Amino acid sequence: MQALTISGLTKTYRGGVHALKGVELSVNEGDFFALLGPNGAGKSTTIGIISSLVNPSSGTVSVFGYDLVKQKEQAKACIGLVPQEFNFNQFETVLQIVLNQAGYYGVPRNIAHERAEKYLTQLDLWEKRNARARELSGGMKRRLMIARALMHEPKMLILDEPTAGVDIEIRRSMWHFLQEINQQGITIILTTHYLEEAEMLCRNIAIIDKGQIVENTSMKALLSKL
Ligand code: ADP
Ligand code: ADP
Repeated sequence: MQALTISGLTKTYRGGVHALKGVELSVNEGDFFALLGPNGAGKSTTIGIISSLVNPSSGTVSVFGYDLVKQKEQAKACIGLVPQEFNFNQFETVLQIVLNQAGYYGVPRNIAHERAEKYLTQLDLWEKRNARARELSGGMKRRLMIARALMHEPKMLILDEPTAGVDIEIRRSMWHFLQEINQQGITIILTTHYLEEAEMLCRNIAIIDKGQIVENTSMKALLSKL
């Protein structure tokens, strides 16, 4: 099963920036996949399109066989997104934030509470459950975004520069957590501009530059070429 298939994807923003110029990409179910590229290459635009936050100009995207346009709700249910910017209400508590997300996806309350405890504990946030988001450190906020993205138990987790600005210890524990949930079967796609991060974590990798995929290979094959 393909977790993600992207074909002929283009995006031209209003104002005329050609952010994507015919992206082709496929990711297998269960993969741990990196989309690597310099700033401005089109990583966030690609992720924005997969998560239905940005409209593509042309091309097709399918998520676990669901067409992103024609079967939007089914496709969205498969995806958990961890965006680059903190986009939660800073005045809500950690617990409220994850429970609201579950509510949004129609997860029953008792199940939502069980999951909140499970994921907040795994991400070392359970003791902070009654703290307001704005009281959290940067690393905690990032972990909160991961917990929130898992509340509807998506088949695929997409993370946009997940460890940007996070110190090395927290980064390692986040890596460890991501490896664990990947081993439990969740497909993971992350964007990064650090090759080291991709190298640590990922089995397969695509390199994007100026809106095009210039390499799509296994991490092993890429490293043997460098
Ligand atoms: P990356 O995530 O790899 O840094 P982006 O997808 O953010 O790259 O950006 C790709 C290109 O599109 C850049 O030239 C960027 O300035 C431009 N861009 C991104 N978002 C917008 C937008 N909302 N409107 C106009 N241009 C944008
Ligand atoms: P979409 O087609 O996905 O709705 P838009 O083209 O409407 O995206 O752009 C979204 C907003 O981002 C616009 O208000 C645009 O002005 C703004 N924007 C412009 N340039 C950039 C940029 N380089 N990076 C991020 N946002 C940008």
